[in-house]
Amino acid sequence: MTYNFGAGPCILPNEVFKQASQAVLEFNPTGLSILEISHRTPEFESVVDETVRLVKELLNVPAGYSVLFLQGGASLQFAMVPMNLLGDNQTASYLDTGVWANKAIKEAKIIGNVNVVASSKSENYTFIPKDFQIPEDSAYFHYTSNNTIYGTELMETPKTNVPLVCDMSSDIFSRTINVADFDLIYAGAQKNMGPAGVTLVIVKDEILGKIDRKLPSMLDYKIHIDGGSMYNTPPVFSIYVSMLNLRWLKSKGGVSEIEKENISKAEALYREIDRNPLFKGTCRTEDRSRMNVCFVMENPELEKPFLKFTEERNIVGLKGHRSVGGFRASLYNALPITSVHVLIDAMQDFAEKHKK
Ligand SMILES: *Cc1c(COP(=O)(O)O)cnc(C)c1O
Repeated sequence: MTYNFGAGPCILPNEVFKQASQAVLEFNPTGLSILEISHRTPEFESVVDETVRLVKELLNVPAGYSVLFLQGGASLQFAMVPMNLLGDNQTASYLDTGVWANKAIKEAKIIGNVNVVASSKSENYTFIPKDFQIPEDSAYFHYTSNNTIYGTELMETPKTNVPLVCDMSSDIFSRTINVADFDLIYAGAQKNMGPAGVTLVIVKDEILGKIDRKLPSMLDYKIHIDGGSMYNTPPVFSIYVSMLNLRWLKSKGGVSEIEKENISKAEALYREIDRNPLFKGTCRTEDRSRMNVCFVMENPELEKPFLKFTEERNIVGLKGHRSVGGFRASLYNALPITSVHVLIDAMQDFAEKHKK
């Protein structure tokens, strides 16, 4: 048994791995593998249809939104969003909460004018800026709901009258959201939806087609909507495994049920970090992420020994991102609470060993 706290690509349910491997050997009635069938077959078209239906059902997507499965990761969305939504004489507003937000800002600046409404960079992104103003004439407002690297999360959707765009790569499907509050949501699949290789985009149809820019077909949301995510060959296997994972989520009772588990997992781990004298959290308490729990040791010299101690217990993926150091425990949907208890036990046993 391995306890995988990796930040992404991340743990998926074991039964999803089993079903996925079965489909690699034999997928359709004629015995073909999922890896060798045409994406134009009725069998695969029904996979795309079911995956769209599951996304809509699990997130309660209202009418008037399209669900797309694209390639290029969340990182291509950093550019596609301004290409499709930011006109030449307009300005887009961004909230700077970490590395990913920063990359989104960098790409948007290549396309047009960008206004950064607030940043927590000067405090190494350990909190979410509050009380910022979003200019009423912004083409849109972009933010990152969960900062995977720093371990902060915006639980409340910012209130604004301008179109709202959100990078939900690392907390989509982990908690209930009101999709109607958003105009465009995107997420690289590899942190709660499925394996790497596919990117989910949920876009309100009426915000598209409002600017003049000519776009290459692959970068144009409209083309992908018209093609039903099959303008070109889609990432067949990644979509298939995402479908299996969303079926699993549905069988668990959906997003509101998994959210309860995610709250319990995060609370248990933060409680131990706050209680155990060897450890401390890196972010402001009110902005702590449920998905990525970042912490360090009071004595940095103990960090290497602690990492080794956890590795001996088959706990993997715990090393913090190089820009934060210490540890990051990612508690995505598929991570069972029993794994969190294994980590907490390791923290307690290590503290016992190092008692003065
Ligand atoms: C991982 C991550 C990304 C980058 O995703 P890619 O699919 O690798 O491009 C962007 N934003 C957030 C919040 C992430 O966690």
